[in-house]
Amino acid sequence: MSQPNLHLRRVFSDAFRQLERGRRFRPDISDIEVKFYPYAGLHHTIRVRAGRVYVRLSDLFQTAPPEVIRALAFLLVARLLSRKAPRDQERIYRAFAFSPQLLRASDLARRQRGRKVVSSARGTVYDLEKIFARLNRRYFDGKMEKPVLTWSQRRARSILGHHDAAHDTITISKTLDSREVPEWFVEYILFHEMLHIKHPARIINGRRYYHTSAFRSEEKGYPRYQQAQEWLERVMRKRHELRARAA
Ligand SMILES: [Zn+2]
Repeated sequence: MSQPNLHLRRVFSDAFRQLERGRRFRPDISDIEVKFYPYAGLHHTIRVRAGRVYVRLSDLFQTAPPEVIRALAFLLVARLLSRKAPRDQERIYRAFAFSPQLLRASDLARRQRGRKVVSSARGTVYDLEKIFARLNRRYFDGKMEKPVLTWSQRRARSILGHHDAAHDTITISKTLDSREVPEWFVEYILFHEMLHIKHPARIINGRRYYHTSAFRSEEKGYPRYQQAQEWLERVMRKRHELRARAA
């Protein structure tokens, strides 16, 4: 089995080993998940849930040198354990984070990403993490690595779901987080996006194909595929009418 981000996870596991001398909490490498995330500014998070450690690093650090990532791991783990971070690690992190080059990049990211704040997978009605876990178990043998799952911030979006491979993120339209939308339809939209993870885009003659025949045939195997298509048509028709009325 492939071990995504093994190197990053090892860096965090080391930080735990060195900072947590009391051995109260020393997660195994397999219990640590590290991902880069397109935060609007310079921002990183670490949290523990059910014994697993979830780390999200600003994607501005994707090109950071190894010693900076190591320093950042120490700072985050120290924060989590309410310990004082080692001075030298703090210095290494700051030298990089406050370099003119990074400040420029983070400024740009803030402006471009604007209000694209990090939202939660838990909506008012549906919880994307729960639905993901169920679909993963049922159709992917539980083997799919969880991407970042999020509801879109703005309600009016022309697309219902989107998979961003570069940022390992699935975004589902907030319009579906409603009691008027059946859960199986939300499930289908998420299932479709999960298939994009399983079947990466193929490039043929310089063109990118997202819905390959393998993708399509697996999608058609979804038990409520036909019903979902009908609902999809209804949604599209409704939107079209709304637009016509507004025009
Ligand atoms: Zn698609």
